[in-house]
Amino acid sequence: DAASLVQMLFSLGEMVTATESVNAETLELLGEELNYVVQVVSPEDEDRELLESFDLEFGSDEGDEDDLVIRPPVVTVMGHVDHGKTKLLDALRNANVVDKEAGGITQHIGAYQVHTEVDGNDRRITFIDTPGHEAFTAMRARGSKSSDIAVLVVAADDGVMPQTVEALNHARAADVPIVVAVNKIDKPDADPTKVRGQLTEYGLVPEEYGGDSMFVDVSAKSELNLDKLLEAIVLTADASLDLRANPTQDAQGLVVEAHLDKGRGPVATVLVQRGTLRVGDSIVAGPAHGRVRAMIDENGDPIEEADPSRPAMVLGLSAVPGAGQNFIVVEDDRMARQIAEKREARERAANQARRRVRRTLEDFMASMEKGESQELNLILKGDVSGSVEALEDALAKIDVGDEVSLRVIDRGVGAITETNVDLAAASDAIIIGFNVRPQGKATELADREGVEIRYYTVIYQAIDEIEAALKGMLKPEF
Ligand code: GDP
Repeated sequence: DAASLVQMLFSLGEMVTATESVNAETLELLGEELNYVVQVVSPEDEDRELLESFDLEFGSDEGDEDDLVIRPPVVTVMGHVDHGKTKLLDALRNANVVDKEAGGITQHIGAYQVHTEVDGNDRRITFIDTPGHEAFTAMRARGSKSSDIAVLVVAADDGVMPQTVEALNHARAADVPIVVAVNKIDKPDADPTKVRGQLTEYGLVPEEYGGDSMFVDVSAKSELNLDKLLEAIVLTADASLDLRANPTQDAQGLVVEAHLDKGRGPVATVLVQRGTLRVGDSIVAGPAHGRVRAMIDENGDPIEEADPSRPAMVLGLSAVPGAGQNFIVVEDDRMARQIAEKREARERAANQARRRVRRTLEDFMASMEKGESQELNLILKGDVSGSVEALEDALAKIDVGDEVSLRVIDRGVGAITETNVDLAAASDAIIIGFNVRPQGKATELADREGVEIRYYTVIYQAIDEIEAALKGMLKPEF
């Protein structure tokens, strides 16, 4: 019963009450004690197994090398508020949408494709049309990689601002190459050289300075140099990514956004990642299923099929899936329904028992002892920039040996925000707060996402504890 479990856990060194949830390691320990083999399965693993039981696999291309063809890069636009993300996305789209028909009404479906000519070849680019990095982070938190390239928009009259740095860190954490659009160069006080200097300090060095990032001066308002920006995206994709997919297999991809439409029922904009999606296909998207009744493109026109990197709005689903969930074409409606029902049941159960495994300093130690974890990611927040710098300097001096590495993925002055927690959740990081408090719903979100926030008022105490964790000596907190 519960009481003897609590007792047993206590003897294993875990203080829990009967209604508390325990983490994966504790469950494994408990299993050992009781002579059971406890396997802790992540939702991703669980879903993989579910698909496997239907002989399906999400995530890799089928077929031979010969079946793979170049696919367009998928691009997210990021940057500080008011630096022109929305304006730029609109300008790029208006300047040049694939298959634009005279009199066609543009429709915001969450993503669109444009084309451009590079070295005499017609090349396409897909833009995720939800400015800001919320969508990007949400998708990544679900473990799906939605974008190939990030365009970092920086207003030339304003320069690098806090959210510029935040966006930069998000893109880096996702290991996505960055193209910088230095925007608003039409303004008299624009200083694009200053922007280059500022970003160089953050390690984003322009090609013209000998670095490997492409910077393009643009004006979203005057539609200046938009073609150059498109070219830079294509060149960056060609230089550092091998973007190919098999268009002949059954389609798979991600849900970009979805909602319930009064007239049309559930509609979902999906991004095809491999294969070709066709009207009439049986499809399962997250916990929703159905037969693709119709597809609509970014011009509001019906389309019959969508090839890799093509976004399309899909009609005919049974429910509204979540952004970032995957979709997969299956043999028939029956299979789609069975998979969807299993997923839905699991989502319901998970929602009830919602408390994700926490990533704490102690967890880190435990997994390090087992030789699993070698990297501790930290986000530092402090009351003044001096304290953040002092903390980071001191951390850099900790001698951790070769096996472990300490990575500060973001730092900043001010309260701990929900965006900090999002980044921590997506990167498995721990947040260190020095003389600061959480803001708004940050604590709530951290609880839900299983992100640990540690607060300190004395620098050496923070250093001591992190050092102890890195050396596997942190005392458990009771
Ligand atoms: P977002 O918050 O990054 O999406 O920024 P918006 O696209 O909403 O742009 C913020 C403001 O800057 C708006 O008033 C835009 O009209 C203006 N803006 C955007 N791009 C340019 C530009 O290239 N030149 C000038 N002068 N203004 C711009």
